[in-house]
Amino acid sequence: NLYEMPKNEPILGYLPGSKEKKELKEKLKELENKVIEIPAIIGGKEIKTGNTKDIFMPHDLTHKIATVHMLGEEEVKMAIESAMNAKKIWDKYTWQDRVSIFRRAAELLSTTWRSTLNAATMMCQSKNVFQAEIDSACELIDFFNFNSYYLTQLYKDQPISPKGIWNRVEYRPLEGFVFAVTPFNFSSIGGNLPTAPAIMGNTVLWKPARTQLYSAYFTMKLLIEAGVPEGVINFLPVSGSIVGEVVLKHPDLAGIHFTGSTGTFQYMWRTVGENISNYKAYPRIVGETGGKDFMVVHKSAEKNEVLTALIRGSFEYQGQKCSALSRAYIPESMWNEIKDELIEKTDNLKMGNPEDFTNFINAVIDKASFDKINSYIKHAKDSSDAEIIAGGKSDDTKGYFIRPTIIKTTNPHFKTMEEEIFGPVLTIYVYSDEKYEETLELCDKTSIYGLTGAVFAKDRNAILLANEKLVNAAGNFYINDKPTGAVVGQQPFGGARASGTNDKAGSAMNLLRWTSMRSVKENF
Ligand code: GLU
Repeated sequence: NLYEMPKNEPILGYLPGSKEKKELKEKLKELENKVIEIPAIIGGKEIKTGNTKDIFMPHDLTHKIATVHMLGEEEVKMAIESAMNAKKIWDKYTWQDRVSIFRRAAELLSTTWRSTLNAATMMCQSKNVFQAEIDSACELIDFFNFNSYYLTQLYKDQPISPKGIWNRVEYRPLEGFVFAVTPFNFSSIGGNLPTAPAIMGNTVLWKPARTQLYSAYFTMKLLIEAGVPEGVINFLPVSGSIVGEVVLKHPDLAGIHFTGSTGTFQYMWRTVGENISNYKAYPRIVGETGGKDFMVVHKSAEKNEVLTALIRGSFEYQGQKCSALSRAYIPESMWNEIKDELIEKTDNLKMGNPEDFTNFINAVIDKASFDKINSYIKHAKDSSDAEIIAGGKSDDTKGYFIRPTIIKTTNPHFKTMEEEIFGPVLTIYVYSDEKYEETLELCDKTSIYGLTGAVFAKDRNAILLANEKLVNAAGNFYINDKPTGAVVGQQPFGGARASGTNDKAGSAMNLLRWTSMRSVKENF
């Protein structure tokens, strides 16, 4: 039933001998044995500029998987034109027509496209099979289904109409095009950022991160097969500076749907601000950016729960999640109990290529990330108020591999306690047990971000206090769970402060940003 809350897509297990494992292995083999050509897709047409860049796998640097045709300013202008033209057709679709296209996309992804999207995500973003499955299959399917459902709910509530009058509200698309900019780390975000505005009737220019282009291209093909009309979503392999120059100042820019770095987001907002009187309507700006996500442990917490959360929260997908745990505050009594086990478990995490399903850790995304993460590790090695107690080694001879690393510091304001690293690096600050309240305050003040965070405690008063002191420190707050892994329909995701506009991905609230309401009053 379209009007009922959908169920989350079940996560497949990929156990030995399973059908899904066999299919995925075959797909990996098939895709890894060829080099595909990735064109831009503008107005439904493939554009090959001849200005190509090669794409290699982060874990196998000599293995080329694609060449991609990069766009220049002229083609970006064409894409704007095509999006503006497609509006005329897309406007005629009822919301039921739009919903049916995205529900079909969910259906296709759940069945025929699942192994392709998962294989592409494993290959181009270096994700292990489980991280790929929860991202490019389950979460993306959930985005399509839940956004469809939230849309149906919008039309349920109508204003009151006194006798002789009919009041109603309509959800118009924005007047212009939406610019969707997506990061490398989640294929699901890649799919959601262009499609959430599109389901509300907007047409979109989609610029995926260079390091996501490979999987994003398959998502685009899936959307075409599902029936997204030509020009409604335009797929643009292009550098940020080229596209930004044309798009950000364009009078028809109606909205920006962004996930990525804080610096880029602020640059875009500033550019819009400087040009504010040039637009047909005030552009909607929705962004999710960085995080410095935390875990505060109380002495009443359960030791094994804490251990699991520290490892999974910090190191799944090499810590390359905006939500990844990167600073933990642990009471001295508990630290003495868990430290040896934590170090041993971290050192034993198996690292290697995603094609071997037993590897927990794969490569980080690119050379720039590899260097940046290593510079933080080096800083910790060189500092007197920090020590590396696990990991600390890296090697880029075959791929960008960095061992999961734990830094212990005596300085709660140590650089790696404050700055976003976006890699497999956890910093731990040990506090004396009786200083719980001060530690909560310290945690709140330490970072400019406000994305995710967690408290671990069995004592209800300790939980109450954390709730109170950390109320603005995280848009997604977890009690006795790791701060990653939000599920669409269960924990709407997003953060405030420097982490973004907190227009929760996969929620009705996000969809409302892509519509401009019209109130109509009619007298009888
Ligand atoms: N939604 C993801 C999670 O809860 C994080 C998304 C991101 O990294 O931007 O782990």
